[in-house]
Order: sequence, then structure tokens, then C-alpha cells
Amino acid sequence: MSSTTTHVCLTASVENEATTMHTPTLRPVSKLPDVGTNIFTVIGQLTYQHQAINLSQGAPNFPCDPKLVELTAEAMRAGHNQYAPMAGVLSLREALAHKVETLYGHTYHSGDEVTITASASEGLYASISALVHAGDEVIYFEPSFDSYAPIVRLQGAKPVPLKLTQPDFRIDWDELRDTINPKTRMIIINTPHNPSSQILDAADLDRLAELTRDTDIIVLSDEVYEHIVFDGNKHHGVASHPELAQRSIMVSSFGKSFHVTGWRIGYCLAPAALTEEIRKVHQFMMFSADTPMQHALATYMQDPSTYLGLSDLYQQKRDLLVSLLQDSPFELLPCAGSFFLLAKFGHFSSLSDSDFVQRMIRDYRVSAIPLSAFYTDGTDNRIVRFSFSKDEATLRAAAEALCSMKG
Ligand code: GLN
Repeated sequence: MSSTTTHVCLTASVENEATTMHTPTLRPVSKLPDVGTNIFTVIGQLTYQHQAINLSQGAPNFPCDPKLVELTAEAMRAGHNQYAPMAGVLSLREALAHKVETLYGHTYHSGDEVTITASASEGLYASISALVHAGDEVIYFEPSFDSYAPIVRLQGAKPVPLKLTQPDFRIDWDELRDTINPKTRMIIINTPHNPSSQILDAADLDRLAELTRDTDIIVLSDEVYEHIVFDGNKHHGVASHPELAQRSIMVSSFGKSFHVTGWRIGYCLAPAALTEEIRKVHQFMMFSADTPMQHALATYMQDPSTYLGLSDLYQQKRDLLVSLLQDSPFELLPCAGSFFLLAKFGHFSSLSDSDFVQRMIRDYRVSAIPLSAFYTDGTDNRIVRFSFSKDEATLRAAAEALCSMKG
């Protein structure tokens, strides 16, 4: 039997000649043979190895509100330490439904349209895995967060990446229209966008609604940076578009909004028929998300200032980093939301973006993510992504090193 037809290939190990019984080495046929360790882990290790300042991973290096920690500790002391209900603690689902209705206008029923997941990443995985069938096509836009395409492939479906336009990273709606076909099961959007930091506007959502009208296409909308939108702009997500909301799943994250990315709690909002399918997968992936945090978040969110102040906080950080980098050799791209800033370096270095980042980490002790990591075809426009979800001292120290960079 050839190895292409077996699911597992066993080869005898010859490493230990002394053993009489050869130990077989299990070599599974990989489902993702071309996928390595993700970029955040690889760059994270390099950052640590060189003791560099970490502007790579989108994770705050400043503490969350001590009140949130206290509420979590209180929940633990009150005995909320066993499994939460599969769909999430009801008071948190109610708090979310209330928030979304107030901010975006759409009513999601806490009973059958709101699901608490163990991170937004789990929400994305459960949604794609529940609703995309083998042979389906899923359209998404690159550069993109790195998990979309592999999750689609694991369903035996085909990821169809369309490139965001340069230099403004907008969706080419005509190209999307020409790409949609009867196999298209899902379109994934992301606003505010990681890594480009651009946002969709109301006209974009209208265009998406128009292109999906009278189809059975599901829209998966990654809105984990929903509360980080700058310059007085509003967040336009699927919950603010009554027509799109009927065919969409909104995925978001408590980690991003409350500076607790290690807590791994997110949520999916979707019409009941979609939620029913998502929960079928969620119940077997995680069963339920961590319990004490859910109780704490439900109480914490009662005060809207806990999330409504986020745009101001991050706009100050964006403006600080932009002003500190004015004297650097980088050309900074506009940043409308999220906590990422793109910077071009092609005019002063001919290195690939991966080599450039390695050099930056090794010689200047600052890390970033090379933008090519967000393209399946490795497109390299000589751009790096900085995260400014860092305290002021970190941003100042990083900027000082970056200003001394030479070609
Ligand atoms: N979302 C974060 C980023 O883009 C981190 C993701 C991760 O580390 N898996 O940096």
C-alpha cells in the first residue's frame, strides 16, 4: 500500500541499534503539510531570545483593570468554579445582547442567539467547522489573520483569498462579485482589520448585502477590535446592518476589549438557525468557556465606560507611536482602528520583510510581524506590522531604537 493511500505511515527507527525490537516512528499524513508554527509564536521566540521589545503580538503589556481581577476572584470565592452552561453564563449573554442592541441596533436573543466561546479563535473555528462543508468555497481577504484559511482547509473546503487593494487595503467589491459562485458557502470579513487597521463603512456593508442577497452565503464577521475605532468614526459591523445580520455571525473578544488576551473568552452572535449549528461544534470542542471570568465580565460590563473608553485609549497610543516615529526611516500607513500600525521600509532596505524583521530584532532589539505572513502566497510589499497595545515607556524605547535604523 503506498503512503498516499494510508492515513498513517510507519517506518522503523534505526536510531538505537542496540534494541532488538525496532521502535516504529509514527508519521501521520499531515492535514496541513505546508503549515508551520504560526508567526506569532516564531517571532515571539525570537523576541525572547534577543531580549527585544515586543511590538509583534497584539497583546497588551499593561495590566487590566484591578476591579476585573477582583470580580473574578470574588466569583471564584463564591464557588463559580465548575462547568458553565454550554452556551455561556446567562447574565453575560444578557449583558452582551443588551450592549449590542444599544450600540448597533440589532436584537440578539440571549437564549438562542448568543454563545460564549473559549476565545474568538474558538468562535471562528466552531463557526467555520459547523457551517462549511467539504467542497465548499470560502472567500476571504488578504492580508488576513492567519487562522482563516487553515480552518477552511481542515473542513475539506477551499479557501479563496482575494487581495485587498493597495495602498488603502479596501475590498474590491467588483472582484468579489465576479468570484462568488454556487459553491461559495461563506465570506469572511474583518473590521477593524488585522493587520491593515482599516475599517469598513456603511456603504461597504450595503455592497456586501447586495452581493449576497438571494444567496445562501453566510457572512462570518471577525469584529474583535469593534471598540477600537479612531478619529470619531463609528464601528460598522454586521449587527448594525439589519439585512446582513440575518445571514451573519459576529465573532468578538473580551480579551481584546478588556486587556486580558490570556483569558481566552469570546463570543458568537448569530440568528438562531446558525447558532444551533455553531453550538453543536462548540459543545464538543470546549463544552463551555471558563466560568469565573464569565460571572466577572457580566458584572463588569454593566458599566459601558469599561469598553467605550477604548478608542480614546488606543488613539492616544497610536498618535504617540506615530509622532515618535516621525524621525524614523519608515513610511507609516494610515491607521483607522485596531491596535496595529503598518510601516513601509522598501525605500531604505532591499531585504525581504522576514529578513528585515529578523535584522530588526537582532540588531535593534525591536520585534514586529512581517506582512507577508498574512498572505498565503507570501506577497511581500516590504511592510511590517507594529502593535501599539503597549505602555508608554515601551513605545518610547521601541521608537528610539527604530529611529536609529539604517538601510
Ligand atoms: N490577534 C493577535 C495578533 O494578531 C494575536 C494572535 C495570536 O497570537 N494567535 O497579533
